[in-house]
Amino acid sequence: MNILEKTIKFLTKNGIEAIVLDSSKDVLAYLDSNIKDSSVVGVGDSMTLESLGIYEYLRNRNLVFLDKYDTKLSKPEKKDIYLRNFNADYFLSSANAISSDGKIYNLDGNGSRVAPIIYGPKQVLIICGTNKIVSNDDEAISRIKKIAAPLDAIRLGKHTPCTVKGECVDCKSADKICNYLSVIQGQFDEIRIKVIFIRQALGY
Ligand code: SF4
Repeated sequence: MNILEKTIKFLTKNGIEAIVLDSSKDVLAYLDSNIKDSSVVGVGDSMTLESLGIYEYLRNRNLVFLDKYDTKLSKPEKKDIYLRNFNADYFLSSANAISSDGKIYNLDGNGSRVAPIIYGPKQVLIICGTNKIVSNDDEAISRIKKIAAPLDAIRLGKHTPCTVKGECVDCKSADKICNYLSVIQGQFDEIRIKVIFIRQALGY
């Protein structure tokens, strides 16, 4: 059994269904078939979703896209989108790491991504490349501290030590982006969270 098969096996044991797709084309076809017109859809911040063209895809679908990237949004309007995500029919996000023992890891700055993954939207789709698979807790945390969080801090233009050193030093900076770490190791509503792996390296 390879690590992808093992990860799917243990996600399933934890009550989280997982499927594997081959390409970005397959993901968009999957969303076409599984997200009904007129649905309300929210998203988490994700380079994976961006690189798969999912934000643009949602803007062009006949549905209510809670588009947090709309540049015309005021601060209060953006906060309203974050709150409306809790009542969405679908919430799409990626993950910072998924361990082969079936746990999903996400680190978040303001909680607007991890909170609706855990509670609220009727269906949560975690879409991620197989590069996010790690063996265990230690590797998941290491992946976040050495890869995901520093690269995200750079992307966001933050003034944090990791943007210079290239890895996390557990800073107390005012610009710190690492406030909420979630580890999902099961789910209360059996079919709510679903993982979609793509056989590619996506995001970071
Ligand atoms: S805790 Fe600070 S140093 Fe560590 S990754 Fe987050 S922002 Fe960077």
